Amino acid sequence: DVRVRFCPSPTGLPHVGMVRTALYNWGYARHTGGKLIFRVEDTDAARDSEESYRQLVDALTWLEIDWDEGVEKGGPHAPYRQSQRGDIYAGVLQQLIASGAVYESYSTAEEIDARNEANGRAKQLGYDNYDRTLTDEQKAAFRAEGREPAWRLRVPDEDLTYVDLIRGEVTFPAGSFPDFVVVRAGGQPLYTFTNPVDDALMGITHVIRGEDLMPSTARQLALYSALIDAGVTTFVPRFGHMPLVLGEVGNKKLSKRDPKADLFLQRDKGFIHEGLLNYLALLGWSLSHDRDVFSLEEFIAAFDIADVNPNPARFDQKKAESINGDHIRMLDAADFAARIVPYLVAEGIVADPPTAAQQQMITAAAPLVQERVQLLGEVPALLGFLFTDEIDYQDDALASLPANAGEVIVASVGALELVPEQSFTAAAVQEALAGALIEGLGLKPRVAYGPLRVALSGRRISPPLFESMELLGKAETIRRLGALVQ
Ligand code: GLU
Repeated sequence: DVRVRFCPSPTGLPHVGMVRTALYNWGYARHTGGKLIFRVEDTDAARDSEESYRQLVDALTWLEIDWDEGVEKGGPHAPYRQSQRGDIYAGVLQQLIASGAVYESYSTAEEIDARNEANGRAKQLGYDNYDRTLTDEQKAAFRAEGREPAWRLRVPDEDLTYVDLIRGEVTFPAGSFPDFVVVRAGGQPLYTFTNPVDDALMGITHVIRGEDLMPSTARQLALYSALIDAGVTTFVPRFGHMPLVLGEVGNKKLSKRDPKADLFLQRDKGFIHEGLLNYLALLGWSLSHDRDVFSLEEFIAAFDIADVNPNPARFDQKKAESINGDHIRMLDAADFAARIVPYLVAEGIVADPPTAAQQQMITAAAPLVQERVQLLGEVPALLGFLFTDEIDYQDDALASLPANAGEVIVASVGALELVPEQSFTAAAVQEALAGALIEGLGLKPRVAYGPLRVALSGRRISPPLFESMELLGKAETIRRLGALVQ
């Protein structure tokens, strides 16, 4: 059975690249009926933080990416935070020492450089496997100096080949890298060790991760052979390396520090998780050549790692927003009305939680904007005028008023006065205003209704005018119209 994992390090804010990794692993687990394991790789005390860990959990919860085993959830391989697995790594190290796969290494960086220089060996080649052949006397002498050994894996002198799920056959030629440190002097285990050891112990079958990690795959393949020899595991997982995500311009990777990469900033702008995940799914995969918009259910039904494209994918904010707009339109009305509340609260437009009257207005007004926004963050500016009686007239809106705005307003007020309060509906309002302005004054709709829009909302762009008047009611509509010409 398929067992995949999402195993971020809790450093910094959740970013979209990380979300795509989580999405592909989750999609593959759900598609195959397998399991997703959520493990936190927090062995670097200097860089990892509890805050960042909480943000990761918050991000996955918001995205509704769920997992079957892992932190907060538990499971047969607990604990799922590497910072709590020190004894497990020490135990596996003992097994590798016993099998002879690792050896003590005392060389310091300076000693390695000095030897390379003396031997005419390029400095970039790094460690020269010198400690492989230390005698017991030499080791004893180092220990007598008070030195503690690091542990290095003895890398076999042969080509390493594997078949990548996305890229096909990949070969790392013999001698590509030297014997590498798995556990530092002092006992600190490194990523190249803890990551495959946990994958092995947790029975991971498919490692799906970014292309930037291919160099560690070479080392991990070497380590896997040693883990199998030592009886720690019985098989090597399959590896698939997802394409790079490029920034919007040039050929550089989308930086983690680019604001567009910041998941929470995108959430604050008003992405809904369905829209963002749909867009991120397209960074390396497609449902079909003529369809960019699909539900998460359709994604799960169709997603296969083998169909991922190895070529770099470019992050395109505009396209992401347009897809998000399509998903906003797919929400049912009550769901959309609920999702805009935090954005109205954040702008101070409604109370937290909204009052009963505000909630009623939200429910009534939401359908007026659901058809026209791409991001939930656009909603407060569009609907704010419905929740206040102090209109904030925008400069460009005032500048757009035609010379006859006063005449338009006076005629509108006259016509609206005649509509009975109990039947002050969008349709009745439209009929009254069209009669007075289009037929009566002979105006074009743009000239007729522009000033009314400004009077009501203070803006040139607002939700549909007649519906807005119905929501505000007769008295408030007439009051706002009058206020503009005073
Ligand atoms: N903790 C590693 C990272 O966040 C995991 C990489 C992997 O998937 O193996 O980069």
